[in-house]
Amino acid sequence: MTSNTFKALVLDQRDGQLTATLQSLGIDALPAGDVLVDVAYSSLNYKDGLAITGRGKIIRAFPMAPGIDFAGTVAESQHPDYRPGDQVILTGWGVGERHWGGMSQKARVKGDWLVPLPAGLSLQQAMAIGTAGFTAMLCVMALEDHGFAPGRELLVTGASGGVGGVAVALLAQLGHTVVASTGRAEERDYLAALGAREVIGRLPAEGKPLESERWGGAVDTVGGATLAAVLRALAYRASVAACGNAGGMELATTVFPFILRGVNLLGVESVICPPERRRAAWARLVRDLPADKLDRMTQIVPLADVPAFSQKIVAGNVRGRVVVDVGQA
Ligand code: NDP
Repeated sequence: MTSNTFKALVLDQRDGQLTATLQSLGIDALPAGDVLVDVAYSSLNYKDGLAITGRGKIIRAFPMAPGIDFAGTVAESQHPDYRPGDQVILTGWGVGERHWGGMSQKARVKGDWLVPLPAGLSLQQAMAIGTAGFTAMLCVMALEDHGFAPGRELLVTGASGGVGGVAVALLAQLGHTVVASTGRAEERDYLAALGAREVIGRLPAEGKPLESERWGGAVDTVGGATLAAVLRALAYRASVAACGNAGGMELATTVFPFILRGVNLLGVESVICPPERRRAAWARLVRDLPADKLDRMTQIVPLADVPAFSQKIVAGNVRGRVVVDVGQA
């Protein structure tokens, strides 16, 4: 690779058909921005899977490099906070959706979107965490802001996925009793190793408007009927941090959990999260997420394998986190 040519996974639309091809490009292919980054790693998140398979309307302009996050090294900068050689992370801000994304060896972005790589984290670990892990931390922080119902278990749904696995590991590390809900019974040992005290199946779609109080708090990555089931069994004044919709975007609930138990439904959003909250979340991830558990939930794949893994992630068949080794493409 010369300094001005690079490889990228490019999504395009021809005759209404979505194509995903690995291409060699010149630097002029990149959009405007005040920082140019040599991307080392990106990660495959559920949203990337939707974009790359065309299952969701994620991409706003073609051609586009997908990849809603990346970690790399600043090559050029007109931004006062960054100099060549600085290591940086980017998650969110529409990158990989409306702005050229992380599955490209070079990215030109607004410096204001970047977060300096925190001390104690490698670029690869940063993308093992990636958008999913960052979102899991935002969920934990949202629950902490509202408090937990004392003496009760905490629930994580979609536990075998990326957000779910990091949420299990974080909450267990913080001393909570964690119950992991998964549709993949074969991942019981994996989830126990991340710190789950108990592993249960997916929650039933149907139920009474209120069920016995069980959960002192919950991280829900699934949405739909699963989120409704979590609400039915939250304890008095407990909260659920809801971030996902892999199981559906409709929410059919009664008002009873809210007006008879005073529960909180906390929406968690990682894309336009303010810079101070971002830096606080990354600092907490360095402090509270054990490196061995992060390793256990991570696999590394080359850029060329991303289309195949995208099919797997939208089918709910990927365990934990997928790091994309962009620099070696
Ligand atoms: P993954 O695909 O890694 O995990 C999702 C998990 O949800 C699956 O592993 C599976 O877990 C479960 N699941 C999948 N399909 C269904 C279904 N039909 N019914 C019930 N459960 C299902 O995705 P991520 O962890 O990366 O993301 C999880 C969700 O969070 C996604 O919807 C994603 O878009 C969202 N998200 C939102 C963000 C935000 O800012 N709000 C940021 C990042 C992610 P199991 O088999 O263990 O049950």
